[in-house]
Amino acid sequence: MNILILGGGGREHALAWAVMQNPKCDKLIVAPGNAGIAQIAECASLDIENGAAVVNFCEANAIEFIIIGPEAPLAAGVGDRLHDAGFLVFGPSQAAAQLEASKSFTKEICDAANAPTAAYGHFSEPQAAKDYVTAQGAPIVVKADGLAAGKGVIIAQTVDEAHAAIDEMFGGSFGSAGAEVVIEEFMDGEEASFFVLCDGQTALPVGTAQDHKRVGEGDTGPNTGGMGAYSPAPVLTDAVAEKALEEIIRPTLRVMAEREMPYQGVLYAGLMIKDGQPRLVEYNVRFGDPECQVLMLRLGAQALDLMQAAAEERLHQVEANWADDHALTVVMAAEGYPGTYEKGSIIKGLDDCPEDSFHMVFHAGTGEKDGKITATGGRVLNVTARGTTLREAADRAYAMVDRIDWPEGFCRRDIGWRALD
Ligand code: ATP
Repeated sequence: MNILILGGGGREHALAWAVMQNPKCDKLIVAPGNAGIAQIAECASLDIENGAAVVNFCEANAIEFIIIGPEAPLAAGVGDRLHDAGFLVFGPSQAAAQLEASKSFTKEICDAANAPTAAYGHFSEPQAAKDYVTAQGAPIVVKADGLAAGKGVIIAQTVDEAHAAIDEMFGGSFGSAGAEVVIEEFMDGEEASFFVLCDGQTALPVGTAQDHKRVGEGDTGPNTGGMGAYSPAPVLTDAVAEKALEEIIRPTLRVMAEREMPYQGVLYAGLMIKDGQPRLVEYNVRFGDPECQVLMLRLGAQALDLMQAAAEERLHQVEANWADDHALTVVMAAEGYPGTYEKGSIIKGLDDCPEDSFHMVFHAGTGEKDGKITATGGRVLNVTARGTTLREAADRAYAMVDRIDWPEGFCRRDIGWRALD
């Protein structure tokens, strides 16, 4: 099978690695890819948000299956263009991708599905939003309705803070994403991510994970795209996962199908768990980055079969098997991230790291210059390992971190601390 993966981060390196483990894959192209992906697959330059360009590329390269990594091409309808042109695609339609692109859409679907989530109000002008906050009291959560790269959420501790956040959002600080605002009840509990493959009807769980969003140890400092992750998430026990499937995910799939936008692809449910009860914080319509890296190391070659079964609407015929093991990934970032950082520094020592089904250094933001690997982004490497315990996975990952010679980079030394304690 000839396969195209869209994207070029650590998530796509992990997807490419898993796909390459499967003998079914004859040819793999990743667009745009990165220097790590180039070591295992062909990389191509392509405007991945331009549906017509992607369709032409697939026709010219005899592609048979396309896996869409990031949300931007999904929200731009690239999956629909490919589907219309007769290609087999892993990833939701533009209509179904609203589960990530619009918070008010998701809240309304949750209402229809009777899925447990935070109580909310949806507003298109500031005074009504402020009156709602005054009536509800604080703490309360103010969210820009559209995609704001994880920055459009303010957890206000006081009513005044919430009013200021409302003024800021309607004042245009998040562009069109903030033209409408969702105000939510503050949910207390522990957060974890649940990943489920969907084919429009059937939901197949493929793992749980927890990530570390803050840049500093002990989960302090500014927010980032994620500084590390581990799988499974201890708080998402089998019983909690079953509740999430029964009360949140399957009812969501049912409502989406009834509304003629059946959901196909991976559904990433961000859950808040308290006293064994999960509530939905958000949906994402793609794998998390860096959560995908730990999931793929655990799933290996079967990931391709499962994604193909989702695209072919036959998930009821397959099951996911994985060893009762743990995986952990440490993000190495350029000094200064998530603020300003230098690009172009040289990374050495990667050849000294083992590469097998227990150890992988996935590349996120790397390039190649004169045969050397260079840093080209903020988050640069995802040092990932698997073990029979989380401690073993962590020790293996940090042993690799210690072999990497990159003075311009840094990482957190405490990934997984909650679960390891
Ligand atoms: P990201 O891209 O970082 O996931 P997002 O813009 O999609 O962010 P949300 O996931 O809705 O926004 O919220 C971001 C974070 O804010 C959540 O991961 C959670 O920690 C916190 N949060 C959001 N809603 C609530 C809530 N109702 N109660 C408590 N915390 C919340």
